[in-house]
Amino acid sequence: AHEGILRRQSARESAARTYARALPIVPVRARGLTIEGADGRRYLDCLSGAGTLALGHNHPVVLEAIRKVLDSGAPLNVLDLATPVKDAFTTELFRTLPPGLADRARVQFCGPAGTDAVEAAFKLVRAATGRTGMLAFTGAYHGMTAGALEASGGACDVRVARLPYPQDYRCPFGVGGERGAELAARWTESVLDDAKSGVPLPAGMILEPVQGEGGVIPAPDGWLRRMREITAERSIPLIADEVQTGVGRTGRFWAVEHSGVVPDVMVLSKAIGGSLPLAVVVYRDDLDVWQPGAHAGTFRGNQLAMAAGTATLAHVRENGLAERAEALGARMLTQLREVMGEFACIGDVRGRGLMIGIEMVAPDAADTAPPSGTTRPYPPAPFLATAVQRECLRRGLIVELGGRHAGVVRLLPPLTITDEQANAVLDRLTDAVASVAA
Ligand code: PMP
Repeated sequence: AHEGILRRQSARESAARTYARALPIVPVRARGLTIEGADGRRYLDCLSGAGTLALGHNHPVVLEAIRKVLDSGAPLNVLDLATPVKDAFTTELFRTLPPGLADRARVQFCGPAGTDAVEAAFKLVRAATGRTGMLAFTGAYHGMTAGALEASGGACDVRVARLPYPQDYRCPFGVGGERGAELAARWTESVLDDAKSGVPLPAGMILEPVQGEGGVIPAPDGWLRRMREITAERSIPLIADEVQTGVGRTGRFWAVEHSGVVPDVMVLSKAIGGSLPLAVVVYRDDLDVWQPGAHAGTFRGNQLAMAAGTATLAHVRENGLAERAEALGARMLTQLREVMGEFACIGDVRGRGLMIGIEMVAPDAADTAPPSGTTRPYPPAPFLATAVQRECLRRGLIVELGGRHAGVVRLLPPLTITDEQANAVLDRLTDAVASVAA
């Protein structure tokens, strides 16, 4: 069955298939961190549905919540009608929001994916400000629908100005650290100063507190605070895209909490649906300028997703899983930095909480060593990252790839991963890197 399914699907699916190319497995069962394939092989899953599974696969509290709705005879899709299931989800969601937003929040339920909520956020700030432009950052990923796509990656639409995202390794200014972040902030201010000469201000700024698909790049807290100041001074709504960073993953319930920044708008998806499709925009009430019907979508009422989401949010909150992610993530980062230091093909190990990235580089391909005193790094090595992913799979470990230069191996394990499982992940990953480096 295993081979037949793989063969038939690769013949019938679009050429744009992504994960299915690098991970030729046919999952039939899963629990927690573990996935079992149709061929009986078992894998530790650090892709976690692209970061969706805060509690891992088929967590009992999530299954129980879904079963309860099914057994109750409740309607499964009700557009945007009020239901007890939605009431419970909204209450739990609002309980988790950062202070400063929680008491003045409005929520718009969106079409099922993260990208839908990004579109809704853009529409909202455009309606609220009467302006059109958006500020986004190099290496950003906000989704695959037209508006979100304009704000993603390296290309640039006329309505979207792209600004440098602060980074130590591969710092656009070659200095990194606080200084690099400050230069990036000044660049942003200078773009906005153009408005003085008649160029209209943008409708909003969208950022990820940690760029995920961009290669796991945590923004310095000071830079995030500067972005908050710069936007507040000019009445530009700040949109935090916490689709990937949310629900405890980075060590706080929401990643903006590390810096104390309170965004005007938050875009949430992935883990908030407890593994089922759900996406919302949350924003401060004074931005709620929409007319009735101004934003719609058939699949805004997925009751199973809301129930699974309520159970997930509550479980993360009640069991301190954000703190757990912070502590375990810090330990994993330290251990990875120690072992990876001996491999010349590792350019950087970085992350926050259980969002970890290992950048593969090719020092041999460099004309010269990086100048001392700068963070200008070696050429990226996407081919090595792909090889590490393949070697991980052979060792029963599923990892994600990413990065602006496609050279970053990424770990997004569930927040419920045990210490022993984390050790097994690190062992297999180190082994895989060693085999590629050899
Ligand atoms: N924003 C961020 C930060 C993401 O990581 C993603 C998905 N990787 C999206 C938006 C888009 O979400 P979706 O794939 O559900 O449309």
